[in-house]
Amino acid sequence: MRQPQPEVVFGGTFDPIHQGHLAIAKALVQQLKVSVRFVPVFKPGHRQPCGVSPDHRMAMLTLALEGEEGMLIDAYEFRLGETVPTSHLLRHLRSQMSSVTPLFFVLGEDAFADLPNWVASGQILELANLIVIPRNIEKAQGSILSKIPHLTAIDDNMAASGRVFQLSFPKVETSATSIRAQLAAGGRSSALSQSVGDYIERLGLYRTPEKTE
Ligand code: ATP
Repeated sequence: MRQPQPEVVFGGTFDPIHQGHLAIAKALVQQLKVSVRFVPVFKPGHRQPCGVSPDHRMAMLTLALEGEEGMLIDAYEFRLGETVPTSHLLRHLRSQMSSVTPLFFVLGEDAFADLPNWVASGQILELANLIVIPRNIEKAQGSILSKIPHLTAIDDNMAASGRVFQLSFPKVETSATSIRAQLAAGGRSSALSQSVGDYIERLGLYRTPEKTE
């Protein structure tokens, strides 16, 4: 019997969404023939507050994904009105699918290296597989992906959870942190899509480095 359609979840603050995020999603759609579910964090609990409000981040995400094939937004945390641990999100998604549906959570190499510090991180692999995206991080952590297999296709025998893969992906330097710094200095970033750059400019977002919501 054919395996149910896999679910691929891409969580993040998207503060703002940038070309790195979009390149990751495009690579997932093209290489794995899946849809990518963007799940924006409402208000991050484990890190610095965001540079703009949740509504602005959601508006930019919506603009950036307009017309993109196979990419959708799941406003789960926005409906809840709070940020929950990733394990909570995955349990919620798992409760809506069959136990054999392959569920994947996508994260950058930096986030993967930080995983032991996440709340209830041990439960994440019980609920989902991971797809790690190569990213330039501290040299000391440089080899963490060397033993992790590449995921090139999702076949009918794919495990529902418990596996860690990496995607073949040329490292992209972009980060939201560097974009926010560029915007705070009065510049415009080429790592933003046109519509997102226009939105930021029109509303004067990220102009002050420490403005947080
Ligand atoms: P910040 O600089 O504010 O930490 P960010 O650029 O890492 O932001 P997030 O929204 O925090 O963006 O990222 C969501 C997910 O995408 C995380 O798992 C992150 O590691 C991953 N990610 C973001 N940018 C890249 C990139 N250029 N290469 C690989 N992974 C990335």
